[in-house]
Amino acid sequence: MKHGGTEGERLMPTLFVGHGSPMNGVEDNEFAANWASIAHDIPRPSAILCISAHWISRGTLVSAVAEPETIHDFYGFPRELYEIEYRTPGAPKLAEQIVRLVHSTRVRLDKSWGLDHGTWIVLRRMYPEADIPTLQMSIDFTLKPSLHYKIGRELLSLRREGVLIIGSGNIVHNLALAMDTEKAYPWALAFDREVAARIDMEDHDALIDYRSLPDSNKAFVTDEHYLPLLYVLGAKERYEHVSHSAMRMVLASVSMRCILVRS
Ligand code: ZN
Repeated sequence: MKHGGTEGERLMPTLFVGHGSPMNGVEDNEFAANWASIAHDIPRPSAILCISAHWISRGTLVSAVAEPETIHDFYGFPRELYEIEYRTPGAPKLAEQIVRLVHSTRVRLDKSWGLDHGTWIVLRRMYPEADIPTLQMSIDFTLKPSLHYKIGRELLSLRREGVLIIGSGNIVHNLALAMDTEKAYPWALAFDREVAARIDMEDHDALIDYRSLPDSNKAFVTDEHYLPLLYVLGAKERYEHVSHSAMRMVLASVSMRCILVRS
């Protein structure tokens, strides 16, 4: 099967989203507005495949349920957040297609996972009608970074069928050092800018080898919020354009940067 696209071909854009706090799912803030505006600017997807920082597993799983449940996987937030249901159709056929498509690791169908908050807080702002079939792929914590990138590459051909691939995480995500201030740590800003510059330079090797980037040990202790980026970059063709939005840090150590890749 052909994975790559050819220059000039129209591929569905692919998107990395800095999702931040679950409150972004209900607050009318600049981040919610940005997500809505991205959805407005791109073609309507045939389906959405989200790789969320909040589904970590041993082995790569893809959700194959007809009606994904809304998972409220957070604690200590206002009640209104727990009452939100974001009920899209699932995409079990697409899940089976993904199992056949990905070869660098074995992908298994999962019948238990619905939509976690890394997915639904973003999608309810992008597609409030909840009428686009949506599924998630998990992040296998045993894989080396280059394999996450390679899986993204293998998913690229889905973009030709109108599937919107979203990686949902945060480029900088250190909650242990978070502070309630608008002033970001200098190392957090520097890491976020370094990653953005490497994306613009198409230096994917450096982004796969992220532990060699300066201050990566402070940018995040565990890497699940960074890894969704590797899927999006893997699914990018060299000739495609990148645009950055919401280039701002919250809580001093969480980057809200979003990266849209389009032909
Ligand atoms: Zn998160």
